[in-house]
Amino acid sequence: MNKENENNTPKKNTVSSGSKKKRYINKAIFKAVKTFFLALLVIAVLGGAMGIGMIKGIIDNAPDVDVDSIVPLGYATTIYNASGQVTDTLVMAGSNREEATYDELPKVLIDAFVAIEDSRFWKHRGIDTRAILRAISGVITGKSSSGGGSTITQQLIKNNVFNGGRERSFGEKVERKFQEMYLAVKLEKQMDKKLILTNYLNTINLGSNSLGVKVAARRYFGKEVSDLTLSEATVIAAITKGPTKYNPITGQTANSDRRKIILQYMYDQGYITKEQQEEALADDVYSRIQNINTLAKEKNSPYSYFTDALISQVTQAFINEMGYTETQAHNLLYSGGLSIYTTQDPNLQQIVDSEVNNPANYPDTKYSLEYRLTVTDSEKNTHNYSEKDINKYHSETLKDGFNGLYQTEEAAKADAEKYKSAILKDGDTIAGETLKTVLEPQVSFVLMDQKTGAVKAINGGRGEKTTSLSLNRATDTTRQPGSTFKVISSFAPALDTSGATLATTYYDAEYTLGDKTFKNWYDKQGYLGWSSIRDGIIYSMNIVAIKTLMETVTPRVGVQYATDFGISTLTDQDYNASLALGGLTKGVTNLELTGAFATIANQGIYTKPMFFTKIVDHNGKTILDNTSPQTHRVIKDSTAFLLTDAMAASTQNNRKFASSGINVNSTSTRAHLDHMSVAGKSGTTSNNVDVWFVGFTPYYTAGVWAGCDENQTLSDNGGTSFHKDIWRKIMNKVSEGAQDIGFPAPDSVETAVVCRKSGKLPIPGVCEHDPRGDSTYTEYFAKGTVPTEVCDHHTTVTVCRDSGLLPTPNCPTTTKVALIVPSGQSKTDDSQYAAPSATCNIHGGVNPIIDSSAPTLGDEGDAGVGVAPKSSHPIVTPRQTGNAPTSADTNNEHVGAAPSPVIKPTKPDKKNKSKEQPSEATVPETTASSHIKTTAPTKSDTDSDVLHGPGVTNPRNDGPVATPGPSVSTDGPGGQASPILIGPGGGE
Ligand SMILES: [Zn+2]
Ligand SMILES: [Zn+2]
Repeated sequence: MNKENENNTPKKNTVSSGSKKKRYINKAIFKAVKTFFLALLVIAVLGGAMGIGMIKGIIDNAPDVDVDSIVPLGYATTIYNASGQVTDTLVMAGSNREEATYDELPKVLIDAFVAIEDSRFWKHRGIDTRAILRAISGVITGKSSSGGGSTITQQLIKNNVFNGGRERSFGEKVERKFQEMYLAVKLEKQMDKKLILTNYLNTINLGSNSLGVKVAARRYFGKEVSDLTLSEATVIAAITKGPTKYNPITGQTANSDRRKIILQYMYDQGYITKEQQEEALADDVYSRIQNINTLAKEKNSPYSYFTDALISQVTQAFINEMGYTETQAHNLLYSGGLSIYTTQDPNLQQIVDSEVNNPANYPDTKYSLEYRLTVTDSEKNTHNYSEKDINKYHSETLKDGFNGLYQTEEAAKADAEKYKSAILKDGDTIAGETLKTVLEPQVSFVLMDQKTGAVKAINGGRGEKTTSLSLNRATDTTRQPGSTFKVISSFAPALDTSGATLATTYYDAEYTLGDKTFKNWYDKQGYLGWSSIRDGIIYSMNIVAIKTLMETVTPRVGVQYATDFGISTLTDQDYNASLALGGLTKGVTNLELTGAFATIANQGIYTKPMFFTKIVDHNGKTILDNTSPQTHRVIKDSTAFLLTDAMAASTQNNRKFASSGINVNSTSTRAHLDHMSVAGKSGTTSNNVDVWFVGFTPYYTAGVWAGCDENQTLSDNGGTSFHKDIWRKIMNKVSEGAQDIGFPAPDSVETAVVCRKSGKLPIPGVCEHDPRGDSTYTEYFAKGTVPTEVCDHHTTVTVCRDSGLLPTPNCPTTTKVALIVPSGQSKTDDSQYAAPSATCNIHGGVNPIIDSSAPTLGDEGDAGVGVAPKSSHPIVTPRQTGNAPTSADTNNEHVGAAPSPVIKPTKPDKKNKSKEQPSEATVPETTASSHIKTTAPTKSDTDSDVLHGPGVTNPRNDGPVATPGPSVSTDGPGGQASPILIGPGGGE
């Protein structure tokens, strides 16, 4: 049977992917390089030990090769945390490297591998001249891959001999290639072809923790390798190109495409007939794939989420930075005897784990089901079922509106039993069954040091972790980032490159783009008119974010910034308005989103979140060193500070500058910390499916995500605020004992007093007299960006004192401040204060009596700036809405100082410090300093100007204070910040 292989001359040579690559190279350069290398090759291959210096040197330096050295080294790898304690040991699982003998290997399997990987295997002597050309091309393009140019013999050597080396430079790669070819020729002289192929098939990485074809056959098909059919053999051969991407369970499409190519090659090379090819193509092989991992039984305790993420990052580093194949990387990691020094801080990890797993942190806990059932029927056909089939059974058969969540674990198990008895037929036997309940809602947490990029702790889900390399919601799962993305995609680029400032205003009004109308999370409060980017951050205003992106930034620049911030999951479909609101095609991982915010925390410099500092090989040589990680600047330090300052304000109690009765409050007060400055951004996605908070202290950046694995709404499953409590509890503990150094303002920023309705310089005597109060405030600006123009959204108009409308010649007149608003927009809080367009219909032609001797403050009207005579008849103005006293007053000192528990805490003791909101009357207007702290004022008076930086605790940022009442935010973080914030469905 095996003799046939050797006699089987391929009918024709197929075009490899390697030769395609050549087209992309500048032909002239390629030709010259090719000639050069060809000359070297001829010398190397034919001349052997001819003594040509360079070639000889390379060959002399080649590792020894013998029959023993082509099996993996077999040294365990040790993982150390940042305190030097061993946290995990990586070993080749013995049960996962069972070796098949040559006689056990079916011909279809051998032929499949030879056809796709090395069609001249049975003919060549270790290297294949045609393959060499492809290899050179691969080296030159930097895309050398296992299938592209190497013979099976070379691949065997590459995977099993060159562990622990480095191939970073072009020269090293060339050298390695030469050594590989030299050793391949040498090995062929010492080892029989059959044994070479057997060793190769026994050591390749076939995904799902399966090394070698024997394990893979059991893993994927539940059978011995000798029983594999042509169809099944080609599935396994297809995995070699990339054990993750081509995995037949998780990468079915890629595997299926590759399998079709293999079958075509096998036909082209004469191994199979057209009928066999068609029969294999018609086979529904993927439905037979064994979903149940019956082999990968954990010996000891499973790896932690941190170790899982570490393994993934180290593997990628071996592939990307050292030029390894996935198999090589796996072999080196599990048997190279490495010492891996991680960034994990055991104390911080313990804090994260205990809060994530504290049942008290979840208002409502339910269970979802992970179910796998494999049934063999009386005709030996295999059928696979999962929890998706159970859900379908509910929706299509029972029609009971079941949403996939169970109240108890027992209910979940009982449901699986019920389903099983409904589908099992006579003669069926159960080949395998696994059942696992998963706590819902789920959560993920990432904690990192923004200065070094070191990930200090990570948690990929609550509940007991039962298997290694299981679903990691912090690093693997992509979810919609919601409003957290406003900062990343819109506000950061607006401030950094698009000419906007924190004070730049956009008109918050109904906004329709194409066929989509965007809403605010506070839509019951109406639209608020002119609102700044600072407002957009503090109150998480959707329209402001979208207009910032669409009118100022452009989606293209927004995507570019997000990418620079380390977000790798954006697609071509994300160049649109939804980018502003974090409605992305694919979503983001918690790890990458936290890394993006860490950039802001680190004064604008991005460092990739790292899980290890150093990797040392078996011989004590450092092979990867992260102690000086690569960084790049994403935003200016001024931009980082401005964003930080506004995000810090969103964790403080602030109420949007608006008419009384409109209560739009800071969105992140629950993340306010007891004794540490904090800045951050919340996010909630449509229908309350995902909730986020990503924020930072001067020391650490942390991101929390919560949601149900199958996207059930949180409205019915714990609400939309518990994640912020988890974040706050963890970060309070993490911050214990650390000094609050605040967020220092860089030299690149300065302050100026501006009008909050225009972002421009106030018009003296006008902007202070907005109908709702003093609209001036002190803002931070990047130096050179302080506006020079005066407010163009406020104006004064002369109106009839009685009707408030445009005066007739007979009307008593008064002057008032009016808002200038865009025409043709929906009603907003500003539009009601716009200049009237109708003319008074009270006075007609009759001259009114004017008593000019009785001036009074405009305290009955809502915006009298001028001194107007008291009217004897009722004043009807279009501006007076609601029955609350207005906060407008000509006496500037009183603006915003209405009695309110927010302003004057009755007990300014230590416990209430964080809730303290000094009234404007007690705080100097210009209070910028080089340091701001976002925690509450302390008793030290000398700190007072430090503490009240613009927009942080400066009450002017609070807008006018409304009447005391239940809707006013009076509580600190975690308390009843506002009914709007924590009410059902109150997303932002
Ligand atoms: Zn103004
Ligand atoms: Zn009139």
